[in-house]
Amino acid sequence: MEHARPIHHGFELAATWLFFPLFLLAAYSAFQGLSLFLAIIVLVVGWMVGDFLSGMVHWLFDTYFSEKTPIIGQSFVRPFREHHSDQNEICSHGFITMVGNTCIAATPLIIISLLYADDNPVLSLLSSFVLLSSVLTNMMHRFAHQAKRSVVVRSLQKLHLILTPEHHSKHHSRPYTSHYCITTGWMNPILERLDFFPRLEQLLIHIGIHPTRDDPK
Ligand SMILES: [Zn+2]
Ligand SMILES: [Zn+2]
Repeated sequence: MEHARPIHHGFELAATWLFFPLFLLAAYSAFQGLSLFLAIIVLVVGWMVGDFLSGMVHWLFDTYFSEKTPIIGQSFVRPFREHHSDQNEICSHGFITMVGNTCIAATPLIIISLLYADDNPVLSLLSSFVLLSSVLTNMMHRFAHQAKRSVVVRSLQKLHLILTPEHHSKHHSRPYTSHYCITTGWMNPILERLDFFPRLEQLLIHIGIHPTRDDPK
């Protein structure tokens, strides 16, 4: 229910309206202190870090906890688990629903990025793009499921600047335990080659933390 909690929805709206102008301001201020070459490198690295973080969060909630876990169960674990059984539901969500919650967390951080844009433009630009990538993760994931897509979205997907439907379909295929990154998908081949998530799970098993993922449907 999109408007079931009006106070929370108000926070989502305010944070979304604040985040994007602040992002532009922070990125522009940091950009002033860098050469074009360095700025492009920072953008690419920021986009990759954002993709990696999307994979970490997705893997965490697909693999551990449950819908009954206090605080995070309903708001974080449930959407990820339900998405596996109903992939198209994500396409019915509005923009604020997709980005609002992340904007609430990202807005204070983008203010910090803006504050040190002059002193440390590399770190400021990097963190600004990681935050933008995190805020847009749900949108990029949604585009990979959407049948009707605008020319802009199709072009971005063709250029592999955002997640493509073909690439993301690998996550929705058996054994449903790979290709967790859902922003651009750039990090997936690297992480798969490193056997990153299975190794991390093995490491956690050694300290007594066992996966609690749902049975594949
Ligand atoms: Zn998943
Ligand atoms: Zn998906």
